[in-house]
Order: sequence, then structure tokens, then C-alpha cells
Amino acid sequence: MSNSISVLTELLQIFPYWRPQMYFKASLTALSHAMEDQVLAGSGYPLVIASFQRERFYRQEAQRYRRIAQKTDQVYVLAAPEADFENSSEVYEKIAFKSTDSLAQEWNLIVIAQDYASCLVCQERIGVNYDNTNDRVGSAMDNSRRFEGIWTFDRQVSQQSADTLLRRILAYRPELKTKIKQARQKYLPVTTLKQRRVNLKQKEVNKLTWDCPNRYPDPFVQRLVSYLQASQYKLLKANRSLASKEHKERLINSVTTAIRHSLDPEEILHLAVQKLGEGLGVCRCLVYRCRETDTTATIQHEFLSAGIASIKGETWPLHDNPLFQEVMELRDALMIEDANNDPRIFNRTKSDSKSLQSLVIKCSILSWLLVPILYRGRLLGMLELHHCGPNPVDWKDEDVALVNAITTQIGVALIQAEAYANLQDLNEQLEALDRTRSNLVAITGHELRTPLSTIQICLESLSTEPDMSPKLRQVMLNTALQDAERMRKLVQDFLTLSRLESGRVEWHPEPLDLAECVELSLSNVRSRNRDRNLPNIKNLVTAELPLIQADGEWLVEVLAKLLDNACKFTSSKGSVTIEVSSTHPGSLEVTVADTGRGIEPNCLETVFDRFYQEEGALRRSTGGTGLGLAICRQIVQGWGGEIWAESDGKDLGSQFHFTVPIFLKTIPCKRTKKTSLAKTSKLNKK
Ligand code: ADP
Repeated sequence: MSNSISVLTELLQIFPYWRPQMYFKASLTALSHAMEDQVLAGSGYPLVIASFQRERFYRQEAQRYRRIAQKTDQVYVLAAPEADFENSSEVYEKIAFKSTDSLAQEWNLIVIAQDYASCLVCQERIGVNYDNTNDRVGSAMDNSRRFEGIWTFDRQVSQQSADTLLRRILAYRPELKTKIKQARQKYLPVTTLKQRRVNLKQKEVNKLTWDCPNRYPDPFVQRLVSYLQASQYKLLKANRSLASKEHKERLINSVTTAIRHSLDPEEILHLAVQKLGEGLGVCRCLVYRCRETDTTATIQHEFLSAGIASIKGETWPLHDNPLFQEVMELRDALMIEDANNDPRIFNRTKSDSKSLQSLVIKCSILSWLLVPILYRGRLLGMLELHHCGPNPVDWKDEDVALVNAITTQIGVALIQAEAYANLQDLNEQLEALDRTRSNLVAITGHELRTPLSTIQICLESLSTEPDMSPKLRQVMLNTALQDAERMRKLVQDFLTLSRLESGRVEWHPEPLDLAECVELSLSNVRSRNRDRNLPNIKNLVTAELPLIQADGEWLVEVLAKLLDNACKFTSSKGSVTIEVSSTHPGSLEVTVADTGRGIEPNCLETVFDRFYQEEGALRRSTGGTGLGLAICRQIVQGWGGEIWAESDGKDLGSQFHFTVPIFLKTIPCKRTKKTSLAKTSKLNKK
């Protein structure tokens, strides 16, 4: 068997004018102890019935009940078993009820003696502010558990409650039939339920007196109970505020610890939204990085509670967003309690509010909190909390202060991560510089010392051997001159590259005829290789091309270097082709293709590295410095173009492509032969 109706409910059906009151657990403990003490201090043989919610509560009082049992043999203790509580008749009657019985939610204590009677009939109000997340807070909260019920010295009410409980005891323990019968005869003899109803009707006449539940306790006791209740209430409030402060401090600490462990900005933001969203129990917590001048932002990280739609990856308006603008003006958090009735969002005719309205509807945002992530006044991002209903949330100042504290931490963490990333970049640059320095040492060792020794030997021989034949003398002189030229080239390329890399080059872009530039670079290549058998060079660049916008001097340099390489790595039996296409909008693509030795697929990108040479600088047979393509890439990037290499592999030829912007006719510009001619002479001198 299991009772579904509480003793209190049954009692109130019989005494409908009694009004139950709210009692904290601490007050009920005090009242119960007072009632039990009255039994221990009194004489006679009272009836005592106590029902505990669970065995553990009974255990705390078991000692008292052993002492009470020495005073009377009519003691009944009820509890839902948890360990070894069971039906027994040892010291007093123990009744183990089922955990599903409504008694498991009740607190009843009835004492009926010859000269007094009192009863406490209560049931717990489940789910009222009972938080057990932390032991210390939990035990404080346990004392503030709330019950509603009746505490009275009224004999009739006490007898009725005893009657109900004895009936329930009998159902669990039928073998106690005789003992219970004796109890009824002794303690509940006169008033039957029928008579009580008659009494009730009479008392209705004087409802005012009847409405007061504790008619019998003297005013002092009454006051004491009120005082107990009031201090309990204050304690509860203080505990709640302490618990909430502690919760917030723990939340800030856990967010701070989590984000300080990382130097990755994305991880920092991800951790922050997860911890904050969980900790505050909001429907949605999101964060995005943005600057004050951005027009939009993309939602990068979000926390969602169950059933809330994701908006990760969505684009958020900033420039046309009155809320974002207000946050920027305030440099502080912006709270919106009810977005549906906010004049900044609705009730506006301006078009900028339309996007906000659709956002609010699409994302079901009801209450909104926007908190800027600032570092020394600089905006780094925005953190938002959303409540999606059903009711609006009044943002509390302490919640906003908490989110503000966390955004400050996020700001610091982001700046640290940024500083770390910069440091890493600097380290990489330093490493690259170090590599360059080492390369330079190697190149200097070989490229400068080898020709220098040759020059030295030649000059020494010329000066120490006056009898040398004129033919040999000429050979010596030519060798010295050739090696001096090699050294000059290396020094020149190195200086050019360092100027380009350090950004010390002044660009002079102008409208140019690409065909003319190609012609010029071809003539440069031919004049430089007069003594060599060059491969067949096919110039397929037509004159009908649109003008391009570039610095002519540098463009010719790129073309000449690519053509030089193509000729250098292709035998005289092969061919070199130069052509132009317009596959990219707004630019032309120039291709220098050859049928020469080709490039392995894994080297197509590294050929642009400084000092890259397939056979290594120290074993080079073809001459060159290993800086040509690195220079080309710097130049092409200077006008915003791209350069890349393609090849089907070894001995299958190579194609070098680069893009150059088409001249846009916004600025009137004269295309004169003079410019090209001036350049021709200037470049030819080089
Ligand atoms: P280098 O002065 O050595 O030519 P570059 O920077 O111009 O320096 O070229 C770097 C390397 O790229 C060359 O040494 C060669 O190994 C490879 N390379 C460049 N152009 C070609 C090409 N047309 N065909 C095959 N390999 C090439």
C-alpha cells in the first residue's frame, strides 16, 4: 500500500478554515524539539506519533525517541527506509513506509497527553530554492527548505491527525491492531468525525476566531516562532547572496583559468562562451571579433542551451546597427529587457532597424545583453547573451558586472595571444634572417672567393710572367673580367633583393604597352648572351593588348630574368615562347615557357626561395645567383600581381606565369613613345 494524499490535505478537508503556514526546516526542527521536550519533561503516558521523510532524518533523532519510549509505550515512528530501518516493535513501534508514499514528503509529529495536545502536520514545498551544488552552501540551503502546514495545540486537530496516522500505521502493520485500538480508546475517545463536522458548522458562525490557526499557543510562543521564522528568512537571504557571490567568483576564476591556459585566440573565445553560457544559464552566449570601423562581423563562437537554434557563421550588422553604435558610444554594456518592445529595434521607421528586427525574429531574441570586449579603449570584439523566452529577463546589475569582469579578462587574454603571435612572427623573421645570413656566408664563400681567386691568379701571372704569349695574356685578361662580372652581378642582385624586401623601393607605375616591354627585355637578353647559342625564342605577344599599369623598369627586369632563365636551362635545340592572355579579370597574364630541363613538382614553389638552385650553389654549372626568381616575386607582388611556375617534370620544360594589372582609364594619361624610349636607353645602360 502507498498513500497518495498527504495527512495535511486530509486534515484540511475536515478543517477547511485552517490556513496552512510556511515553515523553514530549521523552524520545524525547533518546534519538534520543543514538543518532544515537553513529553520528556512531563508526566503521564502520552501518545507520540512522528513521521520522518527518510531514515537519515530519523537517525538524527533516534536517541531522543529512545528516551521518549521510557516515558510511554504508545510511541510510533515512521520513516522511508534507506539502510536498515524496518518494521519492528523493539523499543517503540517502527513503521517503514514506501518511498512512494506521500509521507515521504511530509513532516508530522503528534503528541496527545491527558492535559495537553499538540501537533505539527506539514508537507514539503518541493523545488523552492534548494540548491545543493556545494556542501557548505548545500547545508545552509537544507536548513532553509520550506514546508507548509499547521502547528497547533488544538486537541481536536491533534486527535484528527493522530487518527489519520494511526489508520496509515495499521495499513502497514496490521499486527498492531490491538495496540492501536487501545490508543484510540485512550487518546481519541470522544469526538467522532461526525460530531466534529457539527462543531465546524457552529464555528463557521464565528469565522474570524477560527481563521487564526494557532488559537491556543500563548502570544509569547507565537512571537518566538515568528522571530525564528524571520531570522531564518534573513539567514536564507544572506546565504543566497553569499552563494551567488561565490558562484560568480568561481565562474570568473574558471573562465580566467581556462582562457589563461591558452595563447590561441580562437580557443580563448570558445572556452569563454562555453563557461559563461553554462554558468549563467542563458539560452545563447556568443562572441565575435570586430573593430569599431567594421561594417559586419561573423559569429565565430556560441554556446547554446537545449533547443536553441545555432547562428554560428551568420553575419551580424555593425555599421547600420543602432545597438552596436550605442555600445560604442557608451563604451559599456547595453541591456535590453524586452527586444520586442524596444524602441531602438521596433517602433522605428528607419531602414537600419529593419535588419535588426529580422535578426530579433530569426534568432528569437527576447532579452539581450551586449558587452564590448575592450583593451585600453580599443574594441577587440563583442560578447552577447540572449534569452529566448518565454518571459523577458530583467538583467541584474551583478550579472552585468560579472560579464564585464569576464570580458576584461578575455580582452587581456586576446592581447596576450596577439603579443605572443607577434613574437612568434618576429622569431620566424629572425630565423629567416639567420638563414639568409648563413646562405650569404656560403654564397660569399663560393661566389665571391672563387672568382676573386681566379682574378688574383690571372693578375699575378700577368704581372710575374712578362714573357707570356699575347694569346695567353688575352685569355688571362678575359677570365679575370668574366669573374669580375659574376661578382658584380651577385652583389647587384643581393642589393636589389634587400631593397625590395625592406620596402625601400619607390614604385613609379604608369600606363605601358606590354609588347614594347617584351621587345625591350628580349633585346636585353640577346645582347647579354651575344656569345652563346640561344634556343629559338618565339615572341607571340601582339600589339593589340590593353595598356597595363606598372613600373616599366621593374617589369622589364622581371621579363628579362624569366627569359634569361628559360634560355639558360634550355639547350640551343629547344625553344622559348613568350605569350600573353587575359584570363584574369582586370589583369593580363604573361607566360614565359621553355622546352628545357623542367622542374620537379615538389620544387615549383621553392624555386622562388632566396638562393634556391637545383644543383646547390656550390655545384652550379649554369651560373647565376639563385636570387633572380626571389627578386621577380617581390617585384610582381609590388604591383599586386601573382607569379608561379608550372612544369610537367624533369626534362619536360617549364612555364613561368605572372599577372600584371590592366590600366584603368580613370586618370587621363598620354601614351607616348618618349616614355618607352627613355626607358630603353635607361635599361640598356644597365
Ligand atoms: P639562378 O640565378 O640560379 O637562375 P633563379 O632564382 O633565377 O636563380 O632560379 C632559381 C632556380 O630555379 C634555378 O637555379 C633553377 O634551378 C630553377 N629554374 C629557374 N628557371 C628555370 C627554368 N626555366 N627551367 C628550369 N629550372 C629553372
